[in-house]
Amino acid sequence: MNALSLTELQAVNSFAALPAAFYTRLEPQGLNNPRLLHANADAAALIGLAPDALSTPEFLSVFSGAQPLPGGDTLAAVYSGHQFGIWAGQLGDGRAHLLGEVQGPQGGWELQLKGSGMTPYSRMGDGRAVLRSSVREYLASEAMHGLGVPTTRALALVVSDDPVMRETVETAAIVTRMSPSFVRFGSFEHWSSRRQPDMLKTLADYVIDRYYPECRETAVGESGNETAPYINLLRAVTRRTALLMADWQAVGFCHGVMNTDNMSILGLTLDYGPYGFMDGFRLGHVCNHSDSEGRYSWNRQPSVALWNLYRLGGSLHMLVQDVEALRAVLDEFEAVFTRAFHDKMGAKLGLAAWQPADEALLDDLLKLMDANGADFTLTWRRLANALQGQRRTFEDLFIDRTAAADWLDRLLARQAQDGRPAPEVIAGMNAVNPVYVLRNHLAEEAIRAAKTGDAGEIDTLMKLLRNPYVEQDGYERYAALPPDWAGGIEVSCSS
Ligand code: AMP
Ligand code: MG
Repeated sequence: MNALSLTELQAVNSFAALPAAFYTRLEPQGLNNPRLLHANADAAALIGLAPDALSTPEFLSVFSGAQPLPGGDTLAAVYSGHQFGIWAGQLGDGRAHLLGEVQGPQGGWELQLKGSGMTPYSRMGDGRAVLRSSVREYLASEAMHGLGVPTTRALALVVSDDPVMRETVETAAIVTRMSPSFVRFGSFEHWSSRRQPDMLKTLADYVIDRYYPECRETAVGESGNETAPYINLLRAVTRRTALLMADWQAVGFCHGVMNTDNMSILGLTLDYGPYGFMDGFRLGHVCNHSDSEGRYSWNRQPSVALWNLYRLGGSLHMLVQDVEALRAVLDEFEAVFTRAFHDKMGAKLGLAAWQPADEALLDDLLKLMDANGADFTLTWRRLANALQGQRRTFEDLFIDRTAAADWLDRLLARQAQDGRPAPEVIAGMNAVNPVYVLRNHLAEEAIRAAKTGDAGEIDTLMKLLRNPYVEQDGYERYAALPPDWAGGIEVSCSS
């Protein structure tokens, strides 16, 4: 496929073919004097867009909300959800506009503006997103992609001087996100809470036909059962969500706001707000300053995901009367998560294959890291140093160095049982333990520069985070322990 200009993209909007009650058609509210701060050529390639299309006036015009996407059909979608465990009723795209969908070389991508003005679902909000949170979303989704974690993507970051009131006055920005779909668990809860099984079925059929066609193939023994596709859908979403949780845990990512309206039906990381990649490790690390009870702490993420899946299952109950069948599917979560988590952690530890006895080894490391507040990313990355005669670089991350050294002896003894040559073990560990993650202070530095119109830090971070497992000469600072001021950064739901 030849690379295209923006006007050559063949956009459609299949979400708009759903009944009118699923959304509101409306124009975005553009920004005054918008400037393109950064555009992502990698994401552009996914929709077949030529790199030089990114610097055209049309590109800025469309992704600042001034002009519609040619061929698109702009709308804001409705959904509902549970926020912090409590039913919140109707929510919806309160500051996002779905522009349309573009078929790329490897599949379809919906393009969505975030921060593009009020919609009927804005509730008390102003429809805007501040520069700070927009930079954080833009960088984080690409960082997650670089780590190999399923996520929505980011195409463009447009800034302005328009004032936005948060705790202080900030400026408005618009980030363009891309995803095969932005449907959430809360999109399903919306119709079940309103007791509208027909609409719920329409949504479920839409999702299955477009994203989970294999769910139509009824399992053996279920032939002739028309509810089987919905049970299969719950199973598919359960599996993907369980795998996503294993990914998050393995890279020390905390989402921060795992409300059901932020849970992607495709098992993608969705809606980056007060997220955090952990610096000093705490099992109960809470990255969201607004989460006073720690509902979404790091160690609770898998169980919260399952709680959210129960809400989805509860919605699908309206289509599938067989509660036991739904429960049986949800019961698969734990095994899928545990298996994936063990596989990942085993690889991070440099083991050929996970064995049941490795649970204690892993648990003891996590406990040791927690007690010492050891840096998550460096602890894992430096494990491989121990195989190259540099044990100290690992042990120095712990206040209790003796305990760290004792634990390391156990790991080396365990690795020796595998009998693999050291270079192979080291290469394997380095391929799964990243050097670079989007630490809060790195995002903060990029934000500070962005406020002066300087996208240099965003650019540098994008390059490093795209290949986070490969050490780059001259970028040691980006792989180092955070500076003291990083501990003072507070991220909250304010965005
Ligand atoms: P979140 O938890 O950030 O994903 O947002 C929860 C709900 O609040 C969603 O329906 C958002 O669209 C909406 N929302 C958040 N911030 C704003 C805002 N500034 N203006 C309008 N709606 C917002
Ligand atoms: Mg959200």
